[in-house]
Amino acid sequence: MNITLYGTRGSIPVASKETRKYGGNTTCLYIESTQDDAIIVDAGSGIRELSAYCLKNKKQDLTLIFTHYHWDHMQGLPFFAPLYLKGTTITIYGPDKEVTPDKALFHQMMRPYFPTVSWRDVPSSILYKKATLKFRVGSITIQTIPTNHPNYTIGLKFTEGKNSFAFLTDNELLARNHITPYKKFVDFVKNTNFIIHDAAYTEEIYKTRLGWGHSTYTQVMQLAIDAGVDHVIFTHHDPPTTDQAIDTILRDFRKKYPRKTIEAAADGKTINFK
Ligand SMILES: [Zn+2]
Ligand SMILES: [Zn+2]
Repeated sequence: MNITLYGTRGSIPVASKETRKYGGNTTCLYIESTQDDAIIVDAGSGIRELSAYCLKNKKQDLTLIFTHYHWDHMQGLPFFAPLYLKGTTITIYGPDKEVTPDKALFHQMMRPYFPTVSWRDVPSSILYKKATLKFRVGSITIQTIPTNHPNYTIGLKFTEGKNSFAFLTDNELLARNHITPYKKFVDFVKNTNFIIHDAAYTEEIYKTRLGWGHSTYTQVMQLAIDAGVDHVIFTHHDPPTTDQAIDTILRDFRKKYPRKTIEAAADGKTINFK
């Protein structure tokens, strides 16, 4: 399994010289299995850049998993070129508790919100499948867990052979009115090679953001410690968080936890299994 991060910013894309290092595109993750299965998680603005890779490598059978339908997780979809290619099949998984994926995406691409083509008229073939607690795409097994977020959202764990990682974006680990208690997240990420987890806030900012559905760097580190996971990647960077702020956070946390590998997600970053 190879992983490339195409979008790592939370809430809204940002474009400034202060955020160039970690990037400003909203959530999109690309996973390719050893058998060439192509899995995309979320269609934030980062998915536009994934188009070029898919076209160049003739990826005609794609799986797209939505964690939820907040704008920052689907706003890039109308600009995903493979959608407009006849002969391409896109299998979509996503929560259907509040809205079905079809309806969420149809609304986004309906006139007057999108000018050219309606969601249900795109030339590619779209299939819908249910994101159950455990399902398989090619050689990868995917497990899901509801996260603590204002609208129904799923966290994901990917396993191929002995390699696995968890991707938990838009999750408030210690939410007061939780859907999933903290302990269940500990069990969920246990034995993974690494976790990519929402770390939008410092402890200071979190005090003013209770119930917004995001976690702090400290909470994510605690999760890694409690689950015995040695490699942590912070993601869903808050829009005002600068490269310099992220660098400072990384420096402090690496000093505090020298045995852990601590990184920040960055647009374009690839992650390989050792
Ligand atoms: Zn988000
Ligand atoms: Zn969200």
